[in-house]
Amino acid sequence: MRSCIACRLRAPRASLIRLVCDPEGTVVVDRFLKAPGRGAHLCYDAECIRVAAQRKAYGRAFKRAVAPVDPERLIADVVAAIEARVRDRLAIGRRAGWTRSGMDVLGRERARLALFVLAEDAAPATAARIASWGDPERCPVIVFGNRAWLGATQGQAERVAVGVIDADEAARLRTEFERRDRVLVAT
Ligand SMILES: [Zn+2]
Repeated sequence: MRSCIACRLRAPRASLIRLVCDPEGTVVVDRFLKAPGRGAHLCYDAECIRVAAQRKAYGRAFKRAVAPVDPERLIADVVAAIEARVRDRLAIGRRAGWTRSGMDVLGRERARLALFVLAEDAAPATAARIASWGDPERCPVIVFGNRAWLGATQGQAERVAVGVIDADEAARLRTEFERRDRVLVAT
C-alpha cells in the first residue's frame, strides 16, 4: 500500500501514479512502475496532481529540491504513460492472439469480444457500425488513439478498431481508459 501525496488516500501501489525524480531534480512519471529510487505516489486524479503542486508536496516527498512541477505537464506525462501501456498491451494481445482487427473479422467475431477500441479518426459510418456491435456492459466501445496508432499495435498500417476477446485483459484496459478520463478532467 502507498499513500497519495496530495489527499493521503492509501491504495495498492499499482493503482496509483508513481513518480520519480531524475538527477536534475525533474519529477517524471514512472510509466511501468519499474524505475529505481525513491518514488512518490498520486491518485489518477487531476485534482490530486494540481493540489500536490500547490502545496509543494513533490519536494517533500522526494526529500530534496525539485524543479517546479507544472501540473499540466505532469498530466500530459501521465496520459503518455497510459498510452504507452495500452500500446504495449494491444501489441502483446496481437502476439498472444487475444486481439482482433479488420472490419470483417470484428463483425464476424463480435459476439466473442469484451471490448472495442475505436480510432478517434474513424469515419462516422464506421464508428456507428462499431457502436452498434458494442454493448455498454458486455462489450463497451472506447475511443482511444487514431487509425495509424491502432494499426501499429497490430502490425498494420492502419486499423479503425481493435477488438479484445480476453475478458481480463479488457478489464485491465478499461481501467487505463478510466484513469485517462480522470486525469483529463478540466477545472
Ligand atoms: Zn489523491
